[in-house]
Amino acid sequence: SFFRKLGLSKPILNALDTQGYTEPTPIQREAIPALMEGRDLMGIAQTGTGKTAAFALPSIHNLTKDGFTPRQPASCRMLVLSPTRELAAQIATSFKGYSKGTGLRVNVVFGGKPIHAQARGLVGGTDVLVATPGRLLDLIDRRALTLKGVEIFVLDEADQMMDLGFIKPLQQIARMLPEERQSLFFSATMPKAIADLGKQFIKNPVKVEV
Ligand code: AMP
Repeated sequence: SFFRKLGLSKPILNALDTQGYTEPTPIQREAIPALMEGRDLMGIAQTGTGKTAAFALPSIHNLTKDGFTPRQPASCRMLVLSPTRELAAQIATSFKGYSKGTGLRVNVVFGGKPIHAQARGLVGGTDVLVATPGRLLDLIDRRALTLKGVEIFVLDEADQMMDLGFIKPLQQIARMLPEERQSLFFSATMPKAIADLGKQFIKNPVKVEV
């Protein structure tokens, strides 16, 4: 199958079997090979297109391949920003399913829940952190988290982020990310203002539209 030919690691292929995915969706077909190579990506795609697996599968592969960096205290190696709590929770659940058996650690943080428990969960560091922007900044202010170790950065639903007024927090977060990283930027629509925002985060991206 497509997934096998790509050379995705065994635990990922097993997880895909468990999920019953045999063929990729169009965005997965285009995005996964480029992301495995470490390219940046700008994707015009809605929820329901298989977008989550399109960025989760190659990231899980790269985060667990030979010679990877171990997680550090109060750090994450991959940061996924989501505009809403519901979407953040959904992305984290998908990531846990796709990374079963790889040993990757996945945490999710969002507002409306006690911050102490979320901070405690980050003490030893995590591999994948899914977050809403406000809660992420609160955790950084409390020194419960630093973004110095981020290798992969995903900004999901950029148009919703803008509608919800998250531009300032996003720019604040972007300034704390290491210069050297892989960045992915997704939006359901790509008017000029969103594309301009994207250019602040991504370099020479592969563009995918579904
Ligand atoms: P998403 O766009 O990431 O929210 O995914 C939409 C739905 O498609 C989810 O329920 C996924 O479990 C499912 N899905 C994603 N990729 C595949 C695939 N390759 N084959 C079958 N179902 C998939």
